[in-house]
Amino acid sequence: MSEKIHLLALSKNELTEFTENLGEPKFRASQIFKGLHERRLQSFDEMTDLPKNLRERLDEIATVSTLKIESRYVSIDGTRRFLMKTHDNFPVEAVFIPTDTRDTICFSSQSGCPLKCDFCLTAKLGLLRNLTAGEIVEQIITVLNDVYGVGEETPHGTNLVGMGAGEPFLNFENLIKALEIMSADDGLFIVPNRVTISTAGIVPKIYEFARLENRPHLAISLSAPDDKLRDKLMPINKRWNIEELLAAAKEFEKSLRAGERFTFEYVLLGDVNDTDEHARALANLLNRYELQRVKINLIPHNSAEPLEYKASSAEQVKRFQNVLESKGVAAFVRRPRGRDIYAACGQLAAKSVSGER
Ligand code: SF4
Repeated sequence: MSEKIHLLALSKNELTEFTENLGEPKFRASQIFKGLHERRLQSFDEMTDLPKNLRERLDEIATVSTLKIESRYVSIDGTRRFLMKTHDNFPVEAVFIPTDTRDTICFSSQSGCPLKCDFCLTAKLGLLRNLTAGEIVEQIITVLNDVYGVGEETPHGTNLVGMGAGEPFLNFENLIKALEIMSADDGLFIVPNRVTISTAGIVPKIYEFARLENRPHLAISLSAPDDKLRDKLMPINKRWNIEELLAAAKEFEKSLRAGERFTFEYVLLGDVNDTDEHARALANLLNRYELQRVKINLIPHNSAEPLEYKASSAEQVKRFQNVLESKGVAAFVRRPRGRDIYAACGQLAAKSVSGER
């Protein structure tokens, strides 16, 4: 299977070239693209608008699907967590998070992750490999088909967050290609404005991202107000420190569109980075850089073995938020979802790689 061409990885132009090489007219590419992305079909057999001999030919040389759902957990709050496996057996996690007005899918950009954030279970796996553009797209299709049924309309569009396993900016090309494929109006039609990419702070890529035409939104994971603590929690800080990161954020701010803001994420770890003093230091830091169009998402940590960190108390989370707001920094607390189903990022993959079930 691995030598077959994964058609979800092909842009429209590449798909046109592919069908032309098969001696097929151009409109076949458009039929196939719609079948893959708009109708979310999972085999060539279901593309009954194609001649039978073409479907058979495609089946011999190409594939629609390379990911398999290995396990799937549905929370009482509607959140669904998926552990998928690539054709070569690497774990891929994705999460479906519904609310009354919108659905959000959190997808992975890598299997495992090379960064070593101390509070993250995925970090324990190391980098297994980059996901292809097709594997990124297929996560979204797999989740939508699981929740709504193959090809069924989704009730209110889909938002994407690139906050699953991996550092998206270390798989930049595949990520951007996948987002472009998913934005097509005769496909999934998930436009960049519905997408947020989260980076741990790959500074040169923040500058590059800012220059992209039609770029998605950006979130930067900060999680500490000073270099000493951030070096420990997020060792990528030793490569690009807070000063370099905030200089890039400042530059990124210039690329914001009307009404757009960007986000700093701050994982709250009980007694580690969640005191009033940390909150004051964080507000002072952001105010020093005169970042005006930024908000902070406070993310209460989900404790999970073997991580040593504990969650902050609800009272401390509130105090932290109040301190930030009293200093003019917009702060929101992310509501924990799917707590009953291995809520910590990387938990499913870590379980599967260690062979535990
Ligand atoms: S928090 Fe994100 S960037 Fe850091 S190790 Fe985990 S997956 Fe990688």
